[in-house]
Amino acid sequence: MSTPKGFATRAIHHAYNPLDNGGALTPPLHLTSTFSFESAEAGGEMFAGEREGHIYSRISNPTCDLLEQRIATLEGAEAGLALSSGMGAITAVFWTLLSPGDEVIVDKTLYGCTFAFMQHGLAKWGVKITHVDMTEPENLRTAISDNTRVVYFETPANPNMRLVDISKVSKIAHDAGATVVVDNTYATPYLTRPIAHGADIVVHSATKYLGGHGDVVAGLVVGKLEQVTEIRLVGMKDMTGAVMAPFNAMLILRGLKTLALRMDRHCASAMKVADWLEAQPGVQAVHFPGLTSFPQHDVARAQMDQPGAMIAFELDGGIDAGRQMMNRLNMIQRAVSLGDAETLIQHPASMTHSTYSPEEREAHGISDGLIRLSVGLEEVADIIADLDAALAPFLVQAAE
Ligand SMILES: *Cc1c(COP(=O)(O)O)cnc(C)c1O
Repeated sequence: MSTPKGFATRAIHHAYNPLDNGGALTPPLHLTSTFSFESAEAGGEMFAGEREGHIYSRISNPTCDLLEQRIATLEGAEAGLALSSGMGAITAVFWTLLSPGDEVIVDKTLYGCTFAFMQHGLAKWGVKITHVDMTEPENLRTAISDNTRVVYFETPANPNMRLVDISKVSKIAHDAGATVVVDNTYATPYLTRPIAHGADIVVHSATKYLGGHGDVVAGLVVGKLEQVTEIRLVGMKDMTGAVMAPFNAMLILRGLKTLALRMDRHCASAMKVADWLEAQPGVQAVHFPGLTSFPQHDVARAQMDQPGAMIAFELDGGIDAGRQMMNRLNMIQRAVSLGDAETLIQHPASMTHSTYSPEEREAHGISDGLIRLSVGLEEVADIIADLDAALAPFLVQAAE
């Protein structure tokens, strides 16, 4: 076997040869719901799993199939699965792995809708959800039991940037026989490959950096072939029906071609913005893995190739100051989502994480004053100038 090609090369070429499609440089878009069987027997054999081939697009589709192969190679996994959204990916994994009576141990902080799915959804079906501060991996060893079926975390976590050491947590989880599922949306496989650190399954909101252009909602799962096949046939086909449309697969395939290029720019700009923010007098705290002040800077260096481009920060005046600042921005867009070309800013407590009650936010480390910034691809000088103009009047007030 020849040595595997580099990340950017695989993101562009993996598993597609134009000469197989009349020379078409761009892979064809297979807009079809169903597939004809060569014979009645062949159809029966496919349903029985004795013959390869596509049956119906809620199970598989050639355009989605190419995307699944690409994300699998980029994550260093055996197989991939394309779903309708990040939440579709996450829920399909859990509806496949869990039974009533099982326990899921999750980190303290989760994306708002994932938190709601666990706390308000899974809990209703007899699944025990236990939150553990996994930034201290030994906490997991204390909490884990024979009932623990899945250990789940985001790293970095949305929205407060907590990092979990994938290797340490995976080792403890595996010792107890649990499956490790990591949400790698913030880092992307260009920065972090959780499977290489011991994770079993990786989930993505491909809506974010993988798509990268704010024009599609999509989700992905990668892992071992056998497990991914089970998620395909149970979680996706029967339990959720959360299948990715072939057209959306094409948009994500297009996004992946520039992922490495975009991430280099996103990360370089975010580092500059984080340094600048940290130097501003009215800024109380900046949470960004690239800063030496970041409490888990060492974990960041060990498992992230670059610090990413998501920044969380707090102003001295708390959320009132934060809202005023956000309202003064000109270029930076007040919007949820992240990983787009446009720099986006939002307030987790009242927006993406409003699925938590105020008491829950407090207990889960999401402060009311926290502001989340997704550093985009504009000229970094323009991003900083917009923030500067929006912060300036507040800083004068603070000095008075
Ligand atoms: C956005 C997001 C999700 C949900 O993804 P959708 O594509 O919006 O369904 C899950 N996890 C994280 C970390 C996210 O940022």
